[in-house]
Amino acid sequence: MRIALFTRDLRVRDNPLLTEDAVPLFVLDPHLAGLSSNRLRFLYESLDDLRSALRDLGGDLVIREGDPVAETIRLARETGADAVSVAHDVTAYARRREERLREECERHRLELRVTPGVTVVPPGEVRPSSGGRAYRVFSPYHRAWEGVRLRPLADRPRTITLPSGLAVGRLPRIPDGESPDLLPGGETEARRRLRSWSRSLSGYADAHDDLPADGTSRLSAYLRFGCLSPLELAEAARGEGSAGAQAFVRQLAWRDFYYQVVAEFPRISTDAIQPARDKDWRHDEDALRHWQDGLTGVPVVDAGMRQLRAEGYMHNRARLITAAFLTKHLGVDWRLGLRWFFRWLLDGDVPNNSGNWQWTAGTGNDSRPYRRFNPIRQAQRFDPDGVYVRRYVPELRAIDGAAVHQPWRLPEAVRRGLDYPGPLESHRDEAVWLRP
Ligand code: FAD
Repeated sequence: MRIALFTRDLRVRDNPLLTEDAVPLFVLDPHLAGLSSNRLRFLYESLDDLRSALRDLGGDLVIREGDPVAETIRLARETGADAVSVAHDVTAYARRREERLREECERHRLELRVTPGVTVVPPGEVRPSSGGRAYRVFSPYHRAWEGVRLRPLADRPRTITLPSGLAVGRLPRIPDGESPDLLPGGETEARRRLRSWSRSLSGYADAHDDLPADGTSRLSAYLRFGCLSPLELAEAARGEGSAGAQAFVRQLAWRDFYYQVVAEFPRISTDAIQPARDKDWRHDEDALRHWQDGLTGVPVVDAGMRQLRAEGYMHNRARLITAAFLTKHLGVDWRLGLRWFFRWLLDGDVPNNSGNWQWTAGTGNDSRPYRRFNPIRQAQRFDPDGVYVRRYVPELRAIDGAAVHQPWRLPEAVRRGLDYPGPLESHRDEAVWLRP
């Protein structure tokens, strides 16, 4: 018998951790208190769903509270298990947990199996020929990634059997999230969403930047908590074979890319990958607050920031626009933007959030670190009729068409009637981007 310590692989399908001899365990780690209420809600919903799936297999999810390493060893002793499994993960916290688990397993003569499953290609599986443990640029990584022979999908166990009399423990009450319109967590919901979205896969290449169409999969939070296997997704998309499917698989490669960056560079949330590009950021509380509140006076930026708060999610194109606006236009430190996103995003995780923020700020892995996103041109291109902006910025709903992107150009009389701010004080001089 083995203890299968679940962390963020909350599924029964294609989960190499979950074998038929497993006693499934999840430990409510005090460290989880650092999760935002949005993600905590999603986590507990996912645990609830995992518990039901395991009960359907004849078993259960054992819930304990405390240090995951100590609780795993305790449960192994209580059940007489002789082995432990845990999925490999890359953050500094996860790696420390794995190391401590290894030491304790050795001390207690338990076999430790570290399983794959958090990414499509395990971090470290492909390495640059020039040396170093991780690729720093995406394109060569992607080429190598595409050539990797993937493991076969893991079978779902037919049954799970717990030792009789084992106390399984209670799940905490599911808390409210901070955002009103959150996706529900769990593998069941993830698969429902996948089934309904897969019809859109072939059109993904054309639709994925279209802000109002909202045509991306919205599977990121399910991947974040492991309610879906990224490998299963990649294999299914490859099987479909369309240009849309290829573009989708490429996004999964981006996800893997940042995981392997973190494996090499664990301080990604605090230290610039390219320190020389970590310029003197402006200290501007006022600009930061307006950005956070979606009140910068630049409609597409404000729409994105309000979507974030309302849904714990933001469209990728809007993430690029809002992050570039904070760092490259307002000159505010990427670390402050990263923390704000992290508080709200359901899919918020260290590799993808910090990796993408550093990419956008130019301190990370962008091969063109000085690129600038003109928010108005972006808005005109990806939200040509202003539908996305009007969806999230009700003060501008009365403005028709693309005029909504530049309210400062409206006739004075109309502008005065709007309950919407003009461009930020610190920003009035940036005439170049205000007049694309
Ligand atoms: P789809 O377009 O359907 O893509 C499928 C999957 O591919 C996503 O679910 C995601 O897992 C992965 N993916 C897509 N784009 C990227 C990308 N650029 N980098 C890495 N993986 C990607 N993604 C997160 O999962 N967590 C984060 O904390 C996060 N923070 C971000 C912060 C910034 C500043 C930016 C610019 C991007 C961030 N992203 C993050 C990446 C991307 O915006 C989201 O993954 C995507 O919007 C999720 O929507 P979706 O599931 O519909 O994506």
